[in-house]
Amino acid sequence: MSSLSFKRLFTFVILFSFFINEAEAQHNDYPIQPVTFTQVHFKDNFWLPKMKINAEVTIPYTLNQCKITGRIDNFAKAAGKIPAEKSTTYTFDDTDLYKVIEGASYSLQTKKDIALEKYLDTLISNIGAAQEPDGYLYTFRTMKIAKPHEWIGSKRWEKEEDLSHELYNAGHLYEAAVAHYQATGKKNLLNIATKNADLLVKTFGWGKEERFPGHQIVETGLTRLYRVTGKKEYLTLAKFFLDLRGKEGHLNQEYSQSHKKVVNQHTAVGHAVRATYMYTGMADVAALTGDKQYLSAIDDIWNDVVDKKIYITGGIGATGNGEAFGADYDLPNMSAYAETCAAIANVYWNNRMFLLHGDAKYIDVLERTLYNGLLSGISLTGDKFFYPNPLASMGQHQRRTWYDCACCISNMTRFLPSVPGYAYAQNQNDLYINLFVGGDASIQLTSTKVEIHQETNYPWSGKDEFIINPAKKASFNIHIRIPGWAKNQPIQGDLYQDKSKSIDFTLLLNGKPAKYSIEKGYAVINRTWVKGDKLTLDLPMEIKKIEAKDSVKADYQRFALQRGPLVYCLEGIDNADSSVLNIVVDKNSTVTPVFQASLLNGVMALEMDGSSTKRQINSNVLIKTQQKVTAIPYYTWANRGSSEMQVWIPFEASASKPKPAPTIASKSKVTASIKSPMMLKALNDQYEVENSIDRSGNFFHWWPKKNSTEFVQYDFDQEYTVSSSEVYWFDDSPWGGCYLPSSWKIVYLKDGQWLPVKVINQDAVAKDKFNSIQFEPITTKALKLEVQLSKDNAAGIHEWKVK
Ligand SMILES: [Zn+2]
Repeated sequence: MSSLSFKRLFTFVILFSFFINEAEAQHNDYPIQPVTFTQVHFKDNFWLPKMKINAEVTIPYTLNQCKITGRIDNFAKAAGKIPAEKSTTYTFDDTDLYKVIEGASYSLQTKKDIALEKYLDTLISNIGAAQEPDGYLYTFRTMKIAKPHEWIGSKRWEKEEDLSHELYNAGHLYEAAVAHYQATGKKNLLNIATKNADLLVKTFGWGKEERFPGHQIVETGLTRLYRVTGKKEYLTLAKFFLDLRGKEGHLNQEYSQSHKKVVNQHTAVGHAVRATYMYTGMADVAALTGDKQYLSAIDDIWNDVVDKKIYITGGIGATGNGEAFGADYDLPNMSAYAETCAAIANVYWNNRMFLLHGDAKYIDVLERTLYNGLLSGISLTGDKFFYPNPLASMGQHQRRTWYDCACCISNMTRFLPSVPGYAYAQNQNDLYINLFVGGDASIQLTSTKVEIHQETNYPWSGKDEFIINPAKKASFNIHIRIPGWAKNQPIQGDLYQDKSKSIDFTLLLNGKPAKYSIEKGYAVINRTWVKGDKLTLDLPMEIKKIEAKDSVKADYQRFALQRGPLVYCLEGIDNADSSVLNIVVDKNSTVTPVFQASLLNGVMALEMDGSSTKRQINSNVLIKTQQKVTAIPYYTWANRGSSEMQVWIPFEASASKPKPAPTIASKSKVTASIKSPMMLKALNDQYEVENSIDRSGNFFHWWPKKNSTEFVQYDFDQEYTVSSSEVYWFDDSPWGGCYLPSSWKIVYLKDGQWLPVKVINQDAVAKDKFNSIQFEPITTKALKLEVQLSKDNAAGIHEWKVK
């Protein structure tokens, strides 16, 4: 062998091993691959209209909001194109624009829009102009304003583990860049993203800058960038960011899941969006590297969530305190936080878990979230939004056109047009049908390419027809998901129970009963398929009354109605007296589905007999009145103004919130030193609370006032002689801003003047009980409760009684 040929061989060996590594790097990924959104075209009556509204209303609306709120100008300021005096409110405001670009990119796939594509290019060139020469991109620092935001450190990354969100901005940039590249084939945003990611690779790592992201998402951003560029360093960096969490000497806190090493985390804690983005990132890294420890951690965390911490709507993150996962089984309904972003993150995470394990139980959670706690985040008109998604309301919750912290709005904008990407998946010769949505999909299997046409009126009907068109006669397996809801298993585990009789689904192949086996929640058909083969699935759509485990106190003696994938709620506007919190429905009542084409863009409403409850004076027995009760799909609530609402319907009168008895207080007109009609209702609603911090119902508060004298006032319907009163304080200290007041007194109206009552006895100010006062009888038409707020805090009231 000449030296030249030896050299050639050597080069060949090197090259060959390099290719093997590359091939391995590319090959090591989720065993199951999603069929991308570009290959799936919805043509149905449920999702397609929503995607159309997203394209025609939501995307232009959020883009315009980004403009008028100064988010787009932040980039021009950083580029030095316009003077920079101040920035917008939050250090993560750049991400709203990235997210809208991501959504717009998906949407361009569904419908070509040259003007939009052009506008995106203009925005992208503005983003590029704001990028510093070495790749750094974070408008809040680059714009150099006199008084920088307090969340920003004096140096780059200095406050990253806390609140600067520099890496969070980067993560959303990468996600948007990959979506834009996949949708348009253009690299203009991708180049900005890789330039930024290359700076991160140069800056961060063991022995270099050792900081983890205060808000996760850069991990999934980096894995997506790795997949399109093949650059291993991006994957290594994603793993570094995860492995650094929990290391001593860093900001160690549950809030950002940095209290322990990620592989030692086995329960879901802290800020729910941060957490769930992290679990998603761990799934990505586990798939791409084969790391078993990551896998074992997220498997445990998933079980923890479905066993103890998820709402029947798929919402997660029960508490507003730190926008976080609450304690086990602590799933309050009225104060449920269940942030829209957390629902979206829950879809991302469960989809990844499915791609890892091929089990339908993850898609069950995904579907539940998608049709309920996620979809509730946007109005039917596409321009009003929910940040928290409660499961009960006295009417205090209303959709808003914008939130200063706009995360949920831009997240919804980016998520909706990506839904087709969750419908199908494949693994060599295994084809998975996960979502039931009419339309066409094109799927490349090892044996052949397959076109599937799906025809269904889901979620209103459980009938579904699939025409299977392989390019050539070929053998492969079709896995059709049989949803948990069709098998008395709303969510895996025993958190929610469906004790109704289960009717079996039917599955036909070319009109005859199909031969299938059940594997991991799928009906699997293995055969040689030919063009035009027809599968007919019929999922039973009987109405379910779901009960929660007794450990969930908030749902005790209540059931939730479900039909197909949809969870239902009662809303005031459809029910007698505009009230629903006082409704009771017997467990054995017959519930009838009625399709109402003109209601809420066309929904299947549910009708049943029930009763309403009312308190009476001098007796604990409730007055019950028979009435018709109507339920609507949960996702459609709050589209007709503010109203009472509840998902969990009492089947025992004691679980209902009865209408108040006609007392002096309940008949009074209520006013206060602040204006808030909704909060004022709390004072005389006769709802019983467990303790001062109880947030399960409505309460009155003066936050953020402090150190001032405030009042609430009852104007009676006639003159009464009164001689005592009781007040129950709301106190959410030390985390909230309401503490017990310094002092309080009662004054009454006489001849146009407010006079103090002559006190006989008055309790000391105390929590968790009624504080009473007795005074010499007075005859009056109005009473005031005057409250001195403490020096540093506000105060609040659950109930104020008068006798
Ligand atoms: Zn959000």
